[in-house]
Amino acid sequence: MNATEVVAYVGLGSNLDDPSRQVRVALEELNRLPRTRVLRHSALYRSAPLGPPDQPDFVNAVAMLDTQLDAHALLDGLQLIEQRHGRVREVRWGPRTLDLDLLLFADRQIDSVRLQVPHPQLHKRAFVLVPLHEIAADLELPGLGPLAELLAGVSRAGLQRIEGTVDV
Ligand code: ATP
Ligand code: MG
Ligand code: MG
Repeated sequence: MNATEVVAYVGLGSNLDDPSRQVRVALEELNRLPRTRVLRHSALYRSAPLGPPDQPDFVNAVAMLDTQLDAHALLDGLQLIEQRHGRVREVRWGPRTLDLDLLLFADRQIDSVRLQVPHPQLHKRAFVLVPLHEIAADLELPGLGPLAELLAGVSRAGLQRIEGTVDV
């Protein structure tokens, strides 16, 4: 059987229990999802927290995947990995061991109860747009336009590239 392969982008974030390690391990786990490979990923970035300010800085990255899963099956896989990292959903935008958001799924626009793609906050977030631009500078975002234009509209204050990151 020849299932359709698509390119998808996932945003990773952590601000608890050794965030850089959480993100690195999650990149390896993404690569082990069924019928999925990590083609490329950004460096790790440190970012000031969004939401409640009395929490540690985040470590963020973006991964480019090649997958034969459909978008909802991919979301299931992302949520399983989050759970394995001991994620407990408490305060909205509060501290977490791991957040995996499906940013883009081919050129699809999805709006179901569980899943909105492109991710609804994507265009406002430097901690997503900057690492995404690092690995896919020429991307066109469905319904949103060229990535480069979105990037020009956000502030990079509080965002810092962490040097010395290694490939999966
Ligand atoms: P934000 O989505 O603003 O980054 P968050 O990542 O903290 O906030 P979560 O608690 O991780 O939010 O997710 C809440 C719900 O969002 C999930 O149960 C999931 O069903 C839904 N969701 C909708 N669209 C997406 C998406 N593109 N990627 C991941 N989850 C999504
Ligand atoms: Mg999120
Ligand atoms: Mg999330």
